[in-house]
This record gives sequence, C-alpha cells and structure tokens, in this order.
Amino acid sequence: MQLRKLLDYAPAPFQRFCDSTFQHGHVYRCACQAISVASHSFSRMKIYVDGKYYDQQNAKVSVFDHGLLYGDGIFEGIRAYNGRVFKLKEHIDRLFYSAKAILLNIPMPHGDIMRAVIETCRRNKIHDGYIRLLVTRGVGSLGLNPYKCKRPSVIVIADKIQLYPPEYYERGLDIITVPTTRNLHSALNPAIKSLNYLNNVLAKIEAINGGCEEAIMLNSEGYVSECTGDNIFIVKGGQMFTPPLSAGALYGITRSVVMEMAREASINVSEPNLTRYDLFNADECFLTGTGAELIPVVKIDGRVVGTGKPGSATKSLVKRYHALTQVSGEPIYG
Ligand code: PMP
Repeated sequence: MQLRKLLDYAPAPFQRFCDSTFQHGHVYRCACQAISVASHSFSRMKIYVDGKYYDQQNAKVSVFDHGLLYGDGIFEGIRAYNGRVFKLKEHIDRLFYSAKAILLNIPMPHGDIMRAVIETCRRNKIHDGYIRLLVTRGVGSLGLNPYKCKRPSVIVIADKIQLYPPEYYERGLDIITVPTTRNLHSALNPAIKSLNYLNNVLAKIEAINGGCEEAIMLNSEGYVSECTGDNIFIVKGGQMFTPPLSAGALYGITRSVVMEMAREASINVSEPNLTRYDLFNADECFLTGTGAELIPVVKIDGRVVGTGKPGSATKSLVKRYHALTQVSGEPIYG
C-alpha cells in the first residue's frame, strides 16, 4: 500500500518496472528502498513558503528562524480524503488559537490560509494525503526575544502518509504508559500545538524503547492525559469516556468528530478524569488522531483490554469515520 503511494512520485519507467515486480516479496523490499531514493531525487512536490511554491529541494527556511532555534511556532496536521480537505476550517481555527496563546501574529487571514492549503493540494495532485501547515516565528537574532523576529513564515507541505501498517488497525495496538508526563498547563499548555514537541518526542522514544508504537502519557497528578500524537478513548458498559482537556489532552479534531458520531449513535460520552485502572478494566479502548484516524488498543501495560480484540463499538465508529471522511470537507478541485 505504502509502496503504491510512493510510486506516485517515481518517474514513469520506474513505476512500470515496479508494477511488474510488485507482487514479489524480496523484489518488493528492494523496490521500496530504490523508490525512496527515486522519490527523493525526482520529487515533483511543490511546497508553499510565504506565498510562493518551491520544489522540495528549494523549499528552505533560514537557520535564524526561531522555529528552528527555539521550536517557536505552531502547526497543524490535516488530512485530505477523496479530493476534499477534511475539517479544514477547524484545523485553521485551532492554528489561530495556538497563535493567540503564544502572541504570534499569523501574517495572513483565515481565508487566505485555507486557499493556500487547497492550492498546495491542487499543485501536488493530492486526492488522499496528509498536509502539514506550519507557522514559524520567523527570522530573528540568536537571542530568545521573539519581538526581534521580523515576520512569521507560513509553510504548507502536502504529501502522503500512513502512520501505522494496516495490520495494526485489524489487530489493535499494544501500548504502554511512559515515565515522561504531559506538560503542565502552567508551563507549556498542551492545548497549544507548538513546534516544540519534545515532550511528545521523549514519550515516543520511551514507547519505542519499550517495544511499542504509541505511549500513554499521564499528567503530573497521575491522571491519563493522552498519547504522544493521539487522544485516547475507552468504552465501558456501553458508554464512552475520554480524558478532559484539563487533564492535558489536546483539543483533538478527530476526538470531537468521534464524540459527535457517538452521540448521534445514542452512545453517552463523558470526559471524567481517568486513571490507568480505568483503562485496564475497560471493555474497549481506541486512539484518535488526524494521522492515525481511529485505531483500536488491545493491550495496555501488559493488561489485555476486553476480549483482546478490537471491540464492536470501536469497529462501528471506524466504519462511520471512514464513511464521513469520504463525503465531507473542502473540495480541492472546484
Ligand atoms: N494529541 C496530540 C499530542 C497530537 O499531536 C494530536 C495530533 N496528531 C492529537 C492528540 C490528535 O489531534 P487531531 O485529532 O486534531 O489530529
């Protein structure tokens, strides 16, 4: 699947070669490596940087950009499905909320950002893809002072993504709780989707070192907050629960969509503080995020969740979510 997507970027003769060898395991692996090189050197990707479109190799920011020097900036991860950008308005709203929280003046109005995202998708012939929208503080001096930065930079990258292999969606994930706790609201509010993701990166490293793909992060009080790049839900006795934003969960856009879908299906959803005990004893557990979509969790810290297989409520929400993504969103092509 991933190979097929990568192939879109490869030159035509190379695509034909790979098409003919696609079914053979060992050739497949060699082709994968070759394509990743080919996709790099023959990339036709167009990246938006401050009003202009550049080829991948020419899309650059200054080493004095405070986004690089201090992680001073904000971002959004957005998906396109079936020629539409899913929940685009909501993502740009959240970008503006993050900007407000860090006193960053986005140098374009909401509508222009929306048009830049759609145009970037169009120029990259995206029908199903992943969009990274970011705003850096811009070029400044080596000192911390953001007021010395002249103008924030707006960047849009439209590409393909597959976060987890398909078998994880069928089988469900085995995840662990990690020692790194979620940022304190009073230090760096987890609601701000800032370019400084070290808190999440450290937790992700701990997950991978523990043999897992994703990690549960607790807050400083020991309540469940979220995962490194996803929100977390449980199902118990026919009801759904997810940690409140005050526990350090991001105001996830997929989280909101899933809560709405559950309510439409007459499933009660509430947001109490949750502990690891609640997760261990849940009937079902799943994660939500733009990149991951909805993914079942079947084991937490060595405890089997429910039957150890993706549950029926989760499966039904996955179906509804996929159906919604196919018909909803800002059209890319007219
Ligand atoms: N939590 C964190 C820390 C995230 O980075 C994300 C986005 N990947 C999410 C939750 C999920 O948010 P959304 O559904 O808006 O993508």
